Amino acid sequence: GYQRVLEENRKLYNHVQDLKGSIRVYCRVRPFLPGQPNSVSTVGHLDEGSISIITPLKYVKDGRKSFTFNKVFGPSATQEEVFSDTQPLIRSVLDGYNVCIFAYGQTGTGKTHTMTGPKELTQKSVGVNYRALSDLFLISEQRKNTISYEVSVQMIEIYNEQIRDLLATDDLAGSERVDKSEAVGDRLKEALHINKSLSALGDVISSLAQKNSHVPYRNSKLTQLLQDSLGGQAKTLMFVHISPEPDAAGETISTLKFADRVSTVELGAARVNKDGADVKELKEQIANLKAALARKE
Ligand code: ADP
Ligand code: MG
Repeated sequence: GYQRVLEENRKLYNHVQDLKGSIRVYCRVRPFLPGQPNSVSTVGHLDEGSISIITPLKYVKDGRKSFTFNKVFGPSATQEEVFSDTQPLIRSVLDGYNVCIFAYGQTGTGKTHTMTGPKELTQKSVGVNYRALSDLFLISEQRKNTISYEVSVQMIEIYNEQIRDLLATDDLAGSERVDKSEAVGDRLKEALHINKSLSALGDVISSLAQKNSHVPYRNSKLTQLLQDSLGGQAKTLMFVHISPEPDAAGETISTLKFADRVSTVELGAARVNKDGADVKELKEQIANLKAALARKE
């Protein structure tokens, strides 16, 4: 009985968040990996919507160890389960919404696993990206007699504050770059740039959460690219990843605190992409002027 009330409450809360247009946050805990030394997980309590971390209090300055998110996936959650909670959001693309899904977390916590999948890709192991595309194609196939959809793909990488088009015909430049960045100096530069993007992301989230009139999107390429998704009318979901290792507890807590801040950001209510009244009016004016010009000639 009590569990059901909690579950109903969570659903209602998610629904209200949806209406308010907040950034949804799903938390995923990765399992211990084969070959890792056996240790006790830092995750104490975990249910569908909340998680608490076990760590000595001295590592948590404010004593905060429990967090509530839209959804929490434990270490045994499958790729299919994760996708099925993401599917409705993805399908709203077909209703004209912009949807943004991104993964956040310390290196090795499972971002690539969630979004792409593990090295060996099977039908069972593929991640959200593949599943999203095949779902969209499936639906558009089903609706093909009534609606036609156009799909285009862009893949870009931000590397050291430079935006690169990964589908551009020069991808060779990419492999050269990987070789070069083995140098210690390049690794350091890389790390500094990543830190810069992440702190810019943190600053943007803080200003949005505080409803500041100025939001510093232009401080990094990452926040510039995400501007429409973080502050606009998009439906946005962040997967926050943590590992169960006690060694990572400090990082885990700060990741969860960041995620907590993200989930308090209220966006404008998500809006369908279509010509607003003013655009329609302007289009009409243009058409009238063109017609007038044509009559003059
Ligand atoms: P990140 O992209 O965050 O650096 P990865 O996705 O590469 O991390 O994950 C690190 C390792 O953990 C990989 O070997 C990955 O396959 C494995 N892993 C991550 N999440 C899971 C999971 N939920 N179940 C099983 N293995 C996982
Ligand atoms: Mg990765």
